[in-house]
Amino acid sequence: MKPIENYTSKVLNITSHELDYREKTWLQILQQLEKYLDLPNDELLTLKRQCFIEIDQLIEIARSAGKSPFVLEQEKVEEQNKEISRIRDVENNEFIIGFEEFNKYIAPIIKKVKFFPDLAGKTFLGKSILEKIYQSTSSEYYESSEAAGELLGFCDALAVQGFSKVLKNNLEIIFRSRALNYDSVKAIGHRNICKVCTNLDGYLPVESLWIAYMLNAPLFPHAIPSDDEARWCPGPTLLIAPNDPFGLR
Ligand SMILES: [Zn+2]
Repeated sequence: MKPIENYTSKVLNITSHELDYREKTWLQILQQLEKYLDLPNDELLTLKRQCFIEIDQLIEIARSAGKSPFVLEQEKVEEQNKEISRIRDVENNEFIIGFEEFNKYIAPIIKKVKFFPDLAGKTFLGKSILEKIYQSTSSEYYESSEAAGELLGFCDALAVQGFSKVLKNNLEIIFRSRALNYDSVKAIGHRNICKVCTNLDGYLPVESLWIAYMLNAPLFPHAIPSDDEARWCPGPTLLIAPNDPFGLR
């Protein structure tokens, strides 16, 4: 390719080290670009000029920090990796609902569901029913099945456990999304959901889901009217969905 005509770097006394950096950065951009675009030569030259201007600015930033531009770039990558790992940690591990939050946000919702037992009641072993419901949502198999076992005789323990678990998991997704300022969550339908919930497939706004919890009226999971058995629909599965500023979805 032709060299850029009339390009004069604003960087004074540019060193060969800095020129190497500019060349390497441009080649990296070019390699990425060629995977997606086939630009005519003049447009490519315009782009190259623009890239050189921006790379030169980076070289000047590195100079003023007393660093090699290669080192500055490496530090940036490390910083970004740290940020990505912090975000992954929030997405996967943070805001686990404890009993206190369960009592605050979820108890008022399940209290209104017909097939739930009296939350203020006690089990045969004298334990709080609400606490046992909470324990039945644990991700530890032993703890959850033991708690569900203790609820037998008071309710359809499987339905109570499943319904509460979905409420808790969805609330965790909402908390994590809000902490990361994500606008929406991804809702995925599956064959166990009712017809109404099938229409919710797609992206749902986090704030509406959160407000529904605040009003003790999330759209799902929900009970399905039935005279004799505990029937319910879990609604779509919610997944964390990072924002989409470039409209790539
Ligand atoms: Zn439904």
